[in-house]
Amino acid sequence: MTAPCVLIVDDDAALLRALPQALHIRMPDVAVETCDSAPVALERIAATDYDAIVSDIKMPGMDGLALLERIRALRPETPTLLITGHGEQDLTIQALRAAAYDFIQKPIDRDYFIASLTRAIQVRQLRRQVEEQRRALERHAATLERTVEERTRELRAANAAKDEVIRARDAALAEARRATREQREARRQVEQLAAQLGEQAAQLDTIFEAMVDGVFVCDAEARIVRVNAHGAALIGLSVERVLQPLAEFAHTHAFSYLDGTPMPLDEFPLLRALRGETHTNLRLIIRQYETDQDVPVSVSSAPIRDQQGQINGAVAVVGDVTELYRLERQKDEFLSIASHELKTPLTSLKGLAQITHRRLVRAGSAEVPHVQKMERAIGRMETLVNDLLDISRIESGKLALRVEPADLKALCAQVIDEQVAATERRIVFEAPEGSVEVEVDVDRIGQVLTNLLSNALKYSPEDSPVALSLAQSDDEMVLAVRDEGPGIPPAEQSRIFERFYRSPAVQVRSGSGVGLGLGLYITREIVERHDGRLWLESVPDQGSTFYVALPLARATAGATIQDPRHATSSLC
Ligand code: ADP
Repeated sequence: MTAPCVLIVDDDAALLRALPQALHIRMPDVAVETCDSAPVALERIAATDYDAIVSDIKMPGMDGLALLERIRALRPETPTLLITGHGEQDLTIQALRAAAYDFIQKPIDRDYFIASLTRAIQVRQLRRQVEEQRRALERHAATLERTVEERTRELRAANAAKDEVIRARDAALAEARRATREQREARRQVEQLAAQLGEQAAQLDTIFEAMVDGVFVCDAEARIVRVNAHGAALIGLSVERVLQPLAEFAHTHAFSYLDGTPMPLDEFPLLRALRGETHTNLRLIIRQYETDQDVPVSVSSAPIRDQQGQINGAVAVVGDVTELYRLERQKDEFLSIASHELKTPLTSLKGLAQITHRRLVRAGSAEVPHVQKMERAIGRMETLVNDLLDISRIESGKLALRVEPADLKALCAQVIDEQVAATERRIVFEAPEGSVEVEVDVDRIGQVLTNLLSNALKYSPEDSPVALSLAQSDDEMVLAVRDEGPGIPPAEQSRIFERFYRSPAVQVRSGSGVGLGLGLYITREIVERHDGRLWLESVPDQGSTFYVALPLARATAGATIQDPRHATSSLC
């Protein structure tokens, strides 16, 4: 602690000297400063925090009481002792009212003065200590408050963090519970699916094995990976021995076409399916292993695709059609024999009818119309028998063409004349100027035109128009036979070219209803044999147009074109 310091203010120079000396003797630790006027004292007091101030009351200018008032304002804690003259009670009272610490009467009792000053200094120092302690306390309190605030903040933060942790833990727990539930549900579903799949696989296995047809499945590398017992039996091997690369079969148990020509490996249905092709009812022969027996089969094959549409295998269903094949042969034989046997008497009948007709005309007989009717009936029978004969020729590969140069326009006109004479219907003919030279079998193309025109007339109302047009494109002549008949439903449009197929949706509108459903089949065969094309455009209730496109020039003019297929047979 620094030494206490006292300021003595008095205009009395003698006292201003004496008092410090006295104090120095009696209170050697106390530093004493003096000044002789109140204004100077105030300056000092403003600069220094004295432990006590001693001031005379009576001073010129500002007196002690005024100084006291200023000190109270400036340094309220500094005890101020006022020196009064003897008997100046009222000043003393004023001094006390103005909160002077003590007053010292002149003449100054040194002991009293020292004692009072000592107390004043002690009071001041105590106050200072109290003040310091108060400040220290305040600081401490402030520190404490800050610490408490900080701790509170930390606690709050910790609490919030704990709450957050708890929330996160609860959420994680809930999530874990949900995930467990979902996992359990997923496992249940997977097990259920696995059970269903197992059942389905068992069902499929049963179906697979119970199928009357042989089923072959190969992978993307053309290796047979599955076959049922019937399939293995068809090629005369055990199931295990069939499971090998398809190429192995090319050497041993190859497929062949119906005419016996061996089928190249590339053409095997499973390999074609691996190239993306789908086929139904391909008629082939399988040579059985060991017995070397030929089995006619019908094969349908298709690619197997994964979810991205990539081909990762192929399947072929192979049915033994031995019985069907035998029946077909029988039927073909019957048709051939029947049509040949019918043809001869029919030709005689036709000849006789013509002679009779001429004779009756010459005799002016009224029976002429009856014979004409007979001739027409014989003509229709002849058409049917000719169709049957053509079918057996086509089936046995004996439909030969005699190609020669011909004027297609003249041929059209001739067929139109025949049809007009037979039906008394009108046929519109549109053709380019001049002749249209082609190289065709005139009889067969005449037959094509007759078939198409007679159909157009037969299936359209009597009063509706039928037209034949002839037009030339770059390298083809295109014939179009148009009618305004009932049209053909889209679903039937490809079927009407099949053998014996007659659309149930189409009724005969005029002329004879006789027909076997062979005309379009034969027509297509003839057109294709000429390297031509036959197609149809038809809208139900609006009519049909059949198109025939024939190549303009044929290198084989004058030659006979043999049927390229021998003994092939197909059920369409
Ligand atoms: P057919 O006329 O002897 O029955 P086709 O082979 O000539 O045999 O014709 C097959 C079937 O096609 C016919 O039965 C008929 O249902 C349908 N058809 C052919 N031509 C026409 C046509 N112009 N308009 C409507 N239907 C037709």
